[in-house]
Amino acid sequence: MNEMNHPDHSGEKGIIVIVSGPSASGKGTVVDRAMEKAEDERLNVRLSVSMTTRAIGRNEVDGETYFFVTKEEFERNIAENNLLEYNRYAGEYYGTPRNTLDQWMNKGFNVILEIDVNGAKQVLKQYPDAVTVYILPPSFKELECRLRNRGRDSEEKIRYRIAKGKDEIPEARWYDYILVNDVIEESADDLLSIIKAEQKNRSRIEYKIDEVLETYGEDQQNN
Ligand code: 5GP
Repeated sequence: MNEMNHPDHSGEKGIIVIVSGPSASGKGTVVDRAMEKAEDERLNVRLSVSMTTRAIGRNEVDGETYFFVTKEEFERNIAENNLLEYNRYAGEYYGTPRNTLDQWMNKGFNVILEIDVNGAKQVLKQYPDAVTVYILPPSFKELECRLRNRGRDSEEKIRYRIAKGKDEIPEARWYDYILVNDVIEESADDLLSIIKAEQKNRSRIEYKIDEVLETYGEDQQNN
């Protein structure tokens, strides 16, 4: 995406938005749609691209969906402290590269991290003001249907992902926001509304109070 993008006139610091949800909850689609809408709405949002050792699926693009790397390469990145957090899932490594996140945060962009609950906990320790959003599928029936339709996993992997979803969903209780992903378009809008509302959260915009207070008396002096 174009790095110049649109200037963000809000002047607020960028927000880290952690999006989690079980495999096939549709979180990837929701996030992608929200990214498109953000562009239209001139909201500065970037998506962090994770690194993984899992096999590339059909319709997936290296460097876009994930950086697909070997186990050796991933472990080298761990050793060099290049990852903000990482986890193992279904025997594969997944992790968030530190460098792009830092660059984007410094530029004041809002950055979405699509990571699991374990990763979310690790990120919150380092960035306690990150916003957490959990995407729920409408039901397990729907989850199973989506897993089968995408045709990426073996029967065994599908079973594993469903079981993992059941274990993981109770963790949604400590997230800031929960979206039940029934209609993608609505969930994408909701995600952007959360980001916009969070930008106006008092804890993030309190500095404005002093800025306004400092203007007290300006008019009187000039008049
Ligand atoms: P999938 O194989 O379906 O793309 O992802 C499997 C799980 O790994 C999902 O729950 C996804 O959110 C999680 N995941 C993807 N990237 C990362 C990451 O960078 N860090 C962590 N901790 N989990 C990730």
